[in-house]
Amino acid sequence: MIIILKKDAQAESIRRLEDALKAKGISANHIEGEHQNIIGLVGDTSVIDVENVLAQDCVESVRRVQEPYKKANRKFHPDDTAVPVRNRTIGDGSLQVIAGPCSVESEEQIITTAIACKEAGATMIRGGAFKPRTSPYSFQGLEGEGIKLLVKARAETGLPIVTEIMSIADLDLFADVDVIQVGARNMQNFKLLKALGECDKPILLKRGLANTLEELLMSAEYIMAGGNMNVILCERGIRTFETMTRNTLDISAVPLLKQKSHLPICVDPSHATGIVSLIEPMSLAAVACGADALEIEVHNDPKSALSDGGQQLTPAKFAEVMKKVRSLAEYFGRTVG
Ligand code: PEP
Ligand code: MN
Repeated sequence: MIIILKKDAQAESIRRLEDALKAKGISANHIEGEHQNIIGLVGDTSVIDVENVLAQDCVESVRRVQEPYKKANRKFHPDDTAVPVRNRTIGDGSLQVIAGPCSVESEEQIITTAIACKEAGATMIRGGAFKPRTSPYSFQGLEGEGIKLLVKARAETGLPIVTEIMSIADLDLFADVDVIQVGARNMQNFKLLKALGECDKPILLKRGLANTLEELLMSAEYIMAGGNMNVILCERGIRTFETMTRNTLDISAVPLLKQKSHLPICVDPSHATGIVSLIEPMSLAAVACGADALEIEVHNDPKSALSDGGQQLTPAKFAEVMKKVRSLAEYFGRTVG
């Protein structure tokens, strides 16, 4: 980080700033230029509050030369992180496919769908038990009962289960869940992220509807700062001016996040597009871009779904998508599973 000093900066104000930086373990190197004086900072500058530095009388501007995220940063952790999930791993070069309904609706629905997803080649089962719905009058999920049904689906298929948490108050109900999902709407629920940083479960962290990649990485940093390194980033589309798709899939996020971070990346083409016919091409694009996992909504009877009916694949369509996904993964020397 570089601090650019005002022309008329008072020595006393500079000294106070340098002392404050030193107290944080940062070494401050004062450089006097012909036209400008600057302070070059060396050390863990992620602990510095830029706004606070800018508020000092002597400071004109501040320039970061390093990203504010450390634990999620590939610069400090060059090797890919592989996240173990029961009998699977996300981020070891394999391709994992998380499939299942938007919401868990009944025992029959989740078991039938989970078995069909497994037969088509899914490697993990998803299903929402706590649903973040835009309307309070829409189906809110089966909550704890839904998690119990997912556990049954795991017993039936042997596949790990992924489900979304909306409140720390419910954390105990997730004891038997394999991957805890943080939904787009909670990406910056910092209290929730902190609590998840202290738990020992892998976290699937979805990008917020209007969040930058740096903000996504900072949210991952919250979880990692608490000691939980098993974070999987998920690109699920962002809000743009386009209205023909539910969101806009930022496919460039996949290779860019791979460059910036060592964490595995998942792509959710279902929420990104909201359109059944786009799930296959976007899944293939994600695999071509190097995504470590896909999360695809599949329902045994999408027409009767209690949420997101319009974007969920039938098991038959999912099986078709999986055929192409598998052959593309194999083309890149990767196995599904
Ligand atoms: C979901 O996966 O069920 C979901 C609600 O997704 P998102 O948080 O990405 O909207
Ligand atoms: Mn959904």
